[in-house]
Amino acid sequence: MNEFNLDFQDTATAFADKSNAELLEKYRMFKMMNSPLLTSIGTAAAEFALALGLPVKGLIKDTLYKQFCGGETIEECQPTIEKLGRSHIGTILDYSVEGKSEEAVFDHTKAEIHRTITRARKDDLVPFAVFKMTGLVRSEVLEKVSGSKELLKRDADEWEKGKKRITELCEYAHSINQPVFIDGEDSWIQDAIDALAAEMMGKYNRESPIIYTTLQLYRHDRLKFLKQSHRQAREKNYIFAAKLVRGAYMEKERERAEELGYPSPIQPTKEATDRDFDAAVEYCLDNIETIAFVAGTHNDKSAEFMARKMEEKGIAHNHKHACFSQLYGMSDNLSYVLAKNNYNVSKYVPYGPVKDAVPYLIRRAQENSSVMGQMSRELDMIARELKRRNI
Ligand SMILES: Cc1cc2nc3c(=O)[nH]c(=O)nc-3n(C[C@H](O)[C@H](O)[C@H](O)COP(=O)(O)OP(=O)(O)OC[C@H]3O[C@@H](n4cnc5c(N)ncnc54)[C@H](O)[C@@H]3O)c2cc1C
Repeated sequence: MNEFNLDFQDTATAFADKSNAELLEKYRMFKMMNSPLLTSIGTAAAEFALALGLPVKGLIKDTLYKQFCGGETIEECQPTIEKLGRSHIGTILDYSVEGKSEEAVFDHTKAEIHRTITRARKDDLVPFAVFKMTGLVRSEVLEKVSGSKELLKRDADEWEKGKKRITELCEYAHSINQPVFIDGEDSWIQDAIDALAAEMMGKYNRESPIIYTTLQLYRHDRLKFLKQSHRQAREKNYIFAAKLVRGAYMEKERERAEELGYPSPIQPTKEATDRDFDAAVEYCLDNIETIAFVAGTHNDKSAEFMARKMEEKGIAHNHKHACFSQLYGMSDNLSYVLAKNNYNVSKYVPYGPVKDAVPYLIRRAQENSSVMGQMSRELDMIARELKRRNI
C-alpha cells in the first residue's frame, strides 16, 4: 500500500464482481493468449475461418469476444453497463467497426455512433461517447488532406461528406451536452484529424468540454503539441479537452517510416514515452481549469503518478476535468481500485458484429502474449486472485 491508500495489487477489489467460474474462464483465456505461438496460430486461424465463412462466430463470441466486448448491439451491452456501474465505473460504448471504405458503411457507422451518443445522454453510467474518424471517412482521403495533397473530385466529395458526418455528430453531442472522444490514429492521417478536432472544439467547447481529441505520447512531438493546442484554445476562448494515451500503432509507425525513409515519429525508447505521458498528465493537472482530460492507460505507475499529483495539488478525486479510463477486460486492478477511491473511471466497451471486432481482438491477444516467457500483467493478477481464493 502506498502513502495515499491506493493499492493496485488489491486483486480482491479488482475481481470482486467475478465469480470463481468467471475468474477461471478468464484465467484460461489469458493463459492461452500468454503463449505467442498459440496467439499467432489462433489469430491466423480465426481470420482464415471467417474469410472462408466457416461457422466460428459462436466460438469467438463465447471466448475472446466475451472477455473484451460488451455485445453485438447497444442493448446487448446493458448487463455490462450495469455491472460496471455497480462498482461506480462508467461505460464508453465503442462501436468497433474498422478499416471500411464504402460510403454506405460510413453512413451506417454514423447512425450507430449517433445511437451511442443518444444512449449516453443523461446516464451517469455512460459518461462519454467515442468515434474514430476512419469509421466515417476513407483513410486514404485523410492521408491526402494530412499531406496537403491535391484532392481529385472523388476525394474532395468524400472529404466533404466525411466532414459533414463528423460535424453533425459533434453538433448533436453538443446539443444534448454529451461529451465525446475522437480517437487518435496513424500519424500520416492525424494532421487532418487534429485540424478537424480543433475546429470542433472551437465550436462546441465554449461552455464545457464536449469534444475530446486524443494525444498519443509515443510520438516525440506530442507534448509540445499539447502545449500549443492549449495556448490556441485559450486565445480562442474554448476549453481544450483531450484523451492522453501512449499510442497503439508503434510497430506499424516504425515500419512505415523505415520503408519510406523518413524519421520515425515515435519516441526512441519506452522510457521517453513514459516520461512524456506523465509530463502531459502533470501539464493538464497544472491547467485543470482550462483543460479537461482523460488518462487512457493500463500503466499502474502512470495511474499512481496522476493520483499522487492530484493529491499534492489539492485536486478533488472526482474533479470533472480529470478522469481515468481503461479498456474492458483489461487492468481491472486499476479501474476498480480507482473507482473505489472515488476517482472518475470509465472503461471502453467495444461492441458490434463479431467478425468486425476481430482486428480489435487480435490487438488485445497480441498485447497479452508474452515476449520473454513471463506472465502478462493480466495473467499474473488473475493467478494471484485465484490463489487468494484457494482455487
Ligand atoms: C481508454 C483507452 C483509450 C485508448 N484510445 C486510444 C486511441 O485513441 N489511439 C491509440 O493509438 N491508442 C489508444 N489506446 C491504447 C493506448 O495507446 C496503449 O496502446 C495502451 O493503453 C498501452 O499503453 P499503456 O499506457 O497502458 O502503458 P504500457 O503498457 O506501459 O505502455 C505500452 C505502450 O508504450 C509505448 N511503447 C512501448 N514500447 C516502446 C518503445 N520501445 N519505444 C517507445 N514507446 C514504446 C507504446 O505506445 C505501447 O503501446 C487507448 C487505451 C485506453 C486504455
